[in-house]
Amino acid sequence: MIKELKVDAIKCGTVIDHIPPGKVFKVIDLLGIGENDQVMIGTNLSSPKHGRKDVIKIENRYLSVEEINSVSLVARSATISIIEDFKPCKKTKIEIPDVLKGILVCPNRHCVTNSEPVVTVFDVEAKDPLSIRCRYCERVFGEEIGKANSL
Ligand SMILES: [Zn+2]
Repeated sequence: MIKELKVDAIKCGTVIDHIPPGKVFKVIDLLGIGENDQVMIGTNLSSPKHGRKDVIKIENRYLSVEEINSVSLVARSATISIIEDFKPCKKTKIEIPDVLKGILVCPNRHCVTNSEPVVTVFDVEAKDPLSIRCRYCERVFGEEIGKANSL
């Protein structure tokens, strides 16, 4: 018998829901969630729409646009809710942006971004499957960019 586990509500912060099962720890890595953050994690919860899902609730933390964009690379089906006083007050469906700035490290070791202190910029040419082009070395990378950056 499998029952949905309820993850406790948080007073204020961010809830990232509908993360593909097993990807929650990648999201934690990406967001640099550390020992001092108060988080609640649910994995393999049943979801009426998507079968199984992971959920993470982060107390007292709001995500920047860059952070939301980076989450989109590992969990494009995720939704982000901002919680105020135990109530969701804003819900956003995340989407891979057209430009990824300062999120990824270029996998091309000879790329100038790996030797000079410049912010990486990738233009997203296709989202499914992912295809992105480094604006500095013009190399194109696919889904493997995630692995190269230990996403
Ligand atoms: Zn590059």
